[in-house]
Amino acid sequence: MSKAILTLNAGSSTVKYALFDAATRAERQRGTLEETGASAMAKALEVCRTAGVEVVGVGHRVVHGGTRFSTPARIDDEVLAALEGFVPLAPLHQPHNVTGIKAARAAFPGVAQVACFDTAFHRTRAEVEETYALPRALFDEGVRRFGFHGLSYEYVAGALRTVAPALAKARVVIAHLGSGASMCAVRDGQSVASTMGFSTLDGVPMGTRPGALDPGVVLYLLGQKGLSVSQVEALLYKESGLKGLSGLSNDMRTLLASEAPQAALAVEYFVTRCAREVASLATALGGLDGLVFTAGIGERSSVIRARIVAQLEWLGLGVDASANDRNETVISTASSRAQVLVVPTNEERCIADAVAAVTDAPS
Ligand code: ADP
Repeated sequence: MSKAILTLNAGSSTVKYALFDAATRAERQRGTLEETGASAMAKALEVCRTAGVEVVGVGHRVVHGGTRFSTPARIDDEVLAALEGFVPLAPLHQPHNVTGIKAARAAFPGVAQVACFDTAFHRTRAEVEETYALPRALFDEGVRRFGFHGLSYEYVAGALRTVAPALAKARVVIAHLGSGASMCAVRDGQSVASTMGFSTLDGVPMGTRPGALDPGVVLYLLGQKGLSVSQVEALLYKESGLKGLSGLSNDMRTLLASEAPQAALAVEYFVTRCAREVASLATALGGLDGLVFTAGIGERSSVIRARIVAQLEWLGLGVDASANDRNETVISTASSRAQVLVVPTNEERCIADAVAAVTDAPS
């Protein structure tokens, strides 16, 4: 039986999985299990049995690694307890990740389990990029800019070493534009700054989340309108962003196809805020050598890429229309002051590589 690595991304109602060859890390298959916990793991076992593989390591996508984890961690009881301790920092995601880990440990006894964190990649940032202008005691107890989507950034930064070796050492902004969206300033493969902060709400607008928002709005909703905390939470995580602003859809494709003025406004808001964040992150890098688009919108929407770069023309950036329309890897014009690229992300592959590194290391 060939040896395989299983990656799991446990959410509120589904578990996304992928199977990789343990030695070559070639992807064998991926899919979504429409259930959670023990019943999801029964399905995952069935998938592995049908595929005829022996699972030698399981990698888990974990949203929060707090200030402790800057690299993937082999899961034992103590690590699992630490992950549960981060639930207050990510109450909407972390509990599902923890449930997935517990179920996988029971379903795959004796198999190495590795936690891979969305926050870990950002642990290289300077303190000034990690802090808010709040009383210091709050920073000390964990009210910080953690930054997320780290597995995607790590994968894309690694891919640059192959597709654009010169850029891999340079000053690059990676724009992860999916239904969740954020951007990261990367220098020499390391995170320098990011748009997401303490939670996954901050930064650029998303499908259903607003991106940067004056906290005064939250105080108004709570104090003047009398909304409950859970109502505000639902508003910010599920009803805002492209969906809230357009009143139509959280899907960029629907908005681009619509003639409704509110759809056009939502797209314009998205493009404008993204362009401004690129310039902000370029300042954090002291210049810009590359802009890399990734994730659903970033990989597939030439229109959105062209519109974002058009707002960065003053920085000397330019996109070649036909290369952009063909989703080529390099889409910038020859005269563009920074290269503009499209690099598909693969968070699962990043997790599988981490599992292999952890399980192959001498213990
Ligand atoms: P997730 O964050 O859920 O992993 P993805 O990275 O898969 O999301 O991105 C999903 C989003 O990508 C969809 O909501 C959709 O808005 C957008 N998208 C996918 N294909 C296109 C396209 N061709 N044009 C514009 N947007 C697209």
